Amino acid sequence: MGEKYYKYVIVGGGVAAGYAAREFANLGLQPGELAIISKEAVAPYERPALSKAYLFPEGAARLPGFHVCVGSGGERLLPEWYTKKGIDLILGTEVVKADVASKTLTTAYGAVYKYGTTLVATGSTFIKLSDFGVPDADAHGIYYLREIKEADALVQAIKTKKDAVAVVVGGGYIGLELAAVLVLNKLKVTMVYPGPWCMPRLFTTHIASFYEGYYKAKGVTIVKGTVASGFETDQHGHVKLVKLKDGRELPADIVVVGVGARPVLAPFKGQLAEEKGGFKTNVPDVYAVGDVATFPLKLYSDTRRVEHVDHSRKSAIHAVQAIKAAEAGNSIPEYDYLPYFYSRSFDLSWQFYGDNVGEDVVFGRDNTTTQPKFGAYWIKDGKIVGAFLEGGTPEENKALAKLAKEQPTAPSKETLLAEGLNFALMT
Ligand code: FAD
Repeated sequence: MGEKYYKYVIVGGGVAAGYAAREFANLGLQPGELAIISKEAVAPYERPALSKAYLFPEGAARLPGFHVCVGSGGERLLPEWYTKKGIDLILGTEVVKADVASKTLTTAYGAVYKYGTTLVATGSTFIKLSDFGVPDADAHGIYYLREIKEADALVQAIKTKKDAVAVVVGGGYIGLELAAVLVLNKLKVTMVYPGPWCMPRLFTTHIASFYEGYYKAKGVTIVKGTVASGFETDQHGHVKLVKLKDGRELPADIVVVGVGARPVLAPFKGQLAEEKGGFKTNVPDVYAVGDVATFPLKLYSDTRRVEHVDHSRKSAIHAVQAIKAAEAGNSIPEYDYLPYFYSRSFDLSWQFYGDNVGEDVVFGRDNTTTQPKFGAYWIKDGKIVGAFLEGGTPEENKALAKLAKEQPTAPSKETLLAEGLNFALMT
C-alpha cells in the first residue's frame, strides 16, 4: 500500500476536528490539502447532544441535524461541505501508529499517511468500571457513552426495555443528564454515586441540594456515599442486579455508567511531552487540541487540561490560526481561555465560567420558584473568580462570563448575597 501526503492531517474526527476544518477553510485551503482521519463512521458532530436530545423519547436529535458547527450557532458542516472544500474525510479508520520524526501516520488498515502538520484531536474515552477491577462490569445491559454507536445501543435498549428499571452509576454531569433522559423515557431510575452530593467537582452542597431535590421530585432515587462493586447476571449474561459496596443491591434491566473520562493518547504516546494527563506539544508541526491538550491557562498562570466542548472548539480554532500565521511568518496572541461549561437536563440549564476555587456565595437559592433561577460566585484573594447560574438568559450568562474574566474585587459576602445576579449585571 502506498503513502499519501497531506499538508494537514487531523487525527480524530470529533468536535475539535470539525471546528479546525472550518477554520482552515475560512483562512484559505486548497483542495486536497487537508484530511481528517477518524475512528468514527460519521463526519464531526456536536458530541454533547448524545446525552441530551439524542436520547429523547420524542423529537430526538439525529444526524445530520447536529453536525458541527451548529452547537455554537454556526454553519452546519454536512459531509458534502467537506467534499465541496476538497477535504478528505477518512472515516471508520483508526490511526494505530504515529511517528512524529518521519511525520507518518499508519491506520488499522495499514494505510500510511504523511503530513506536513498534524492536529492531535483524539479526545477522551470513558473510564470503565472494569478499570477499577469491578467484576462482571462488561455484562450485557451495561452501557457507556462517548460516541454515536454507544448512543445508538442505548436508544435500542431503552426501546426494547419498556418500563425497565435503570441504574445510573456516577453523579457527574453525564450521570445527571442520562438519569434525566431515562426518566423522560419512563424508566424507573436510581442514581448511585460515591460523594456526599452530585457534581462534587463543581457544585457546593447548597447548589447540589437543589438538583438532588429536583431529581427526586421527578422520581429519581438517589443512593449516595457508595459505589457499584459488582453485578449479577441472568443465564444469558444480562445484568439483573447492581451490587453496592455498602452491601445494598439494586435490581436493574439497564445500567448506564458515567464515572469519568480519560484522554486518548495512544497513537502519539511517548512522542509528545505529557502533563496533567494530556499532551503539551513540544514537537514542531504537531498541535494538540481539545480534551487531549494540556495548555497554559493564561488567566490563572496555570497549566490545565479541560474536557469541555467550548475549549475543544476554541483550542482547535486557535491552533489553526497559529498554523496559518506561522506559515505567513507571523504569530498570533497566546491562547487566552476563560473556562466555561454547561449542562442541561429536564427543563434545567446551568452555565459556569471561571474557576471554582476559594469561598463560595450561593444567591437566590431559597426563593427558587417553578422556574428555578439561582447562582453562585467564587471569591479568591478578594476577587470574584468564578460564577455559576441556573436558568440564565443569554444576556445574564454573558454578564457572568465578563465577571469571571475581569475578576473584579468582591464586595462583602452580605452585599453579594443581597445583590445576587444584579452584581454581575451592574459590574
Ligand atoms: P471528541 O469530540 O471526543 O473527538 C475525538 C475523536 O477522535 C473521536 O471521533 C474519536 O473516535 C477519534 N479518535 C480517537 N482516537 C483515534 C485514533 N487513534 N484514530 C482516529 N480517530 C481517533 N461538554 C460540555 O461542555 N457540556 C456538555 O454538556 C457536554 N456534554 C457531553 C456529553 C457527552 C455524552 C460526552 C461524551 C461529552 C460531553 N461534553 C460536554 C464534553 C465534550 O463533548 C468534549 O469535551 C468534546 O467532544 C471534546 O472534543 P475533542 O474533539 O477533543 O474530542
